[in-house]
Amino acid sequence: MSPPSSALRGRVVVAAVAVGAFAAAAAGQTLQGGEKQQQTPDVQPLADSSNASAAIGIGGDSSSAAAPSFLTVAKPAVDTSGGPLEAQKIAASDRIVKARAAKLAAEIAERNRPKFVRPADGSLTSMFGARWGTTHYGIDIANSFGTPIVAAADGVVIEAGSASGFGLWVRIQHSDGTVTVYGHMDSYSVYEGQEVKAGEQIALMGNRGYSTGTHLHFEVWAAEDGLKLDPLGWLAEHGVSY
Ligand SMILES: [Zn+2]
Repeated sequence: MSPPSSALRGRVVVAAVAVGAFAAAAAGQTLQGGEKQQQTPDVQPLADSSNASAAIGIGGDSSSAAAPSFLTVAKPAVDTSGGPLEAQKIAASDRIVKARAAKLAAEIAERNRPKFVRPADGSLTSMFGARWGTTHYGIDIANSFGTPIVAAADGVVIEAGSASGFGLWVRIQHSDGTVTVYGHMDSYSVYEGQEVKAGEQIALMGNRGYSTGTHLHFEVWAAEDGLKLDPLGWLAEHGVSY
C-alpha cells in the first residue's frame, strides 16, 4: 500500500472537523507535522487511530475513495509550498545543462582545431639542405612584406629578439621538445614565456638579417639533440604541406 497522499491528509482533516473535537485536535497535530515534513507519511497514525476508512467515508463520497479526484483536492497545497523551490531547481539544472553544453562545445572546438599549420602562406623559394656551398638549415617561404607569420604548432616562446644572420627571430618550443625557429621577420608580437597556439600570429614577414628578399626562414630543431630537421618533412608528418 502506498503512503497516504497529501490529498488523503487534506481529506482526513476535513473529516475530522466534522466528527468532533478529538478528531479536530488530532488533525491539528497532523497539520503541524505536515508543515514540518511534507514528504513523510505522518498522517498514518491519525488515519489508524481514528479509523481511516470511516474518516474517508465521512469526508467525501465513498464510492470514489480511491479515485484520482482526491489528488485534485490537495494539489494546490503542494504547488504553493513547492512551486518556487521547484522553479529554483529547474533554473539551477538549466544552468548546469548549459554549462555542460558550453564545456562540450569548447572541447569539440579544441579537438577539431588544427594543431599544426603553415608558419606562413607563400611560395617555397629555398629548400632545406646544401645551398651555395653551405647548408641551408631551413626552408624559405616568400610572400609580400608584412604577411602574417604564425606559430606552426602550440608551444611556448623561448626567445624573441635579434639574432645574428636572422635579423630578428622567434623560437617556440613545443610539448615534445621540438623547437621551431622563425627568422628575418620585420617585427614580432610575442614575448619570451608566452604560450601560443597553432596559427596564432607571432610576427610579420620582412627582410632583416642575411636575406635577399622578403621571406620567412623557418627551421625545426629536434627535441633530443637540437639537430636541424627538414621542416618540410616535419610539417608533412603533421599533415601540413606547401
Ligand atoms: Zn632561409
